[in-house]
Amino acid sequence: MNNTKRGRLVVVSGPSGVGKGTVLKYVLDRDDFVYSVSATTRSPREGEVDGVNYFFITREKFENMISGGEFIEYAEYNGNYYGTPKFFVEKMLSEGKNVILEIEVKGAMQVKRIVPEATFVFIAPESIEILEARLRGRGTEQNDVIAGRLSIAEREIRSCLMYDYIVINRDGGAEDCAEDIVAAVKAEGMKPCNVYTSICDFFK
Ligand code: 5GP
Repeated sequence: MNNTKRGRLVVVSGPSGVGKGTVLKYVLDRDDFVYSVSATTRSPREGEVDGVNYFFITREKFENMISGGEFIEYAEYNGNYYGTPKFFVEKMLSEGKNVILEIEVKGAMQVKRIVPEATFVFIAPESIEILEARLRGRGTEQNDVIAGRLSIAEREIRSCLMYDYIVINRDGGAEDCAEDIVAAVKAEGMKPCNVYTSICDFFK
């Protein structure tokens, strides 16, 4: 019998440019958290590595994976597909790791339907103006791509009420934000429904 306590599935969303990558780097410094590498049809940005940041695949391969039922969730975002392959997530959860899915809102809502017990965290900017300045400052996207990302961001920020926790990533506050996420996951694990499937478990 496998006595390892299953890890928690942690879904993290937030608008493009909010600093999810930096925040999650701090969370992933902890041994009990792992990152689920997504598949995408978008081209790699400078410095991105296949199999580390994403599995960069063609539209055809992505669509074959959809037909094969290989994704937990997938969504189209600003003209490209993004999806979470099932295999790694299941393996890590059964080994007791908390698995982070860094995904956009539509995908997060698909996960909420099939794994309602997952922990849903939204990383928000201090304001839309600060977000826009960060996106422009990053210099990795053309103006039309930035405009697309900003309009999606406004829609996404309105969806934050569907999440269990909201953390605000203030300037220079990525480490604090990461600590808040770790604390949220710990708090979830202390909820009665997550400690005992039923109170009868206690009296066994
Ligand atoms: P980017 O192109 O900036 O890396 O990602 C664009 C958006 O896609 C981000 O909001 C990111 O969180 C989201 N994303 C990354 N991987 C996945 C995934 O596997 N599924 C979904 N639904 N969204 C993803």
